[in-house]
Amino acid sequence: MSDFEQRRHLMVDRQLVARGVDDVRVIEAMRRVHRHDFVPASLVDRAYDDTPLPIGHDVTISQPYIVGFMTQALELHPGDRVLEVGTGSGYAAAVLAEIADQVVTVESIAPLAEQARERLTACGDRIEVVSGDGSVGHPARAPYDAIVVTAAAPDIPPPLLDQLDHGGRLVLPVGDGVEQLVRVRRTDEGDVHERLLAVCFVPLTGRYGHGGDGHRSG
Ligand code: SAM
Repeated sequence: MSDFEQRRHLMVDRQLVARGVDDVRVIEAMRRVHRHDFVPASLVDRAYDDTPLPIGHDVTISQPYIVGFMTQALELHPGDRVLEVGTGSGYAAAVLAEIADQVVTVESIAPLAEQARERLTACGDRIEVVSGDGSVGHPARAPYDAIVVTAAAPDIPPPLLDQLDHGGRLVLPVGDGVEQLVRVRRTDEGDVHERLLAVCFVPLTGRYGHGGDGHRSG
């Protein structure tokens, strides 16, 4: 077993399983995806640390536990179509694509989107990287079985609810400063909202992000 593989298994055992992530699909996905391929070369040695890491442009690759927790909260099944808002390094998209059939991931910082597109070519048609404002979702491929937002929104962006399929799950951090990770489940009885965890994320930009006109106008 290589050094990276050993560190990856330790990451999964100590940071995810020990803290209650128990969805076997998520655990296996995170054992498979090479996180060290998604961090800057200068930080490769820290790729499996229990922390977010800077990836340039004032944004981060999320802490492994948070990626595992959010992926588990999406309750993914094979065959699912997933929208991720906030591609960043592309790591979480690669994890999602280990479980779901189709992943559309939207990134507002063009060079990050381009870099992720190159990194994710190995995943073939299963991942589409879109450069643009994900706070409005990506209607061209809607509806989605699961939507995950990896930047903190001031409120739940209405377009994301519009693009969520019946039975779908939306997971996103909401707030400013310390945010609440919120899950919305679309059920026969209507949308069910749950608060899952206090988290800290970079802010969502764009139309329904902080200061966006969609947010201000309600
Ligand atoms: N999921 C990423 C990963 O695996 O590396 C981490 C994402 S990072 C915490 C949040 C990302 O959301 C940043 O790359 C940021 O540029 C992006 N972002 C913020 N607002 C956005 C928006 N309106 N549309 C798309 N991406 C956005």
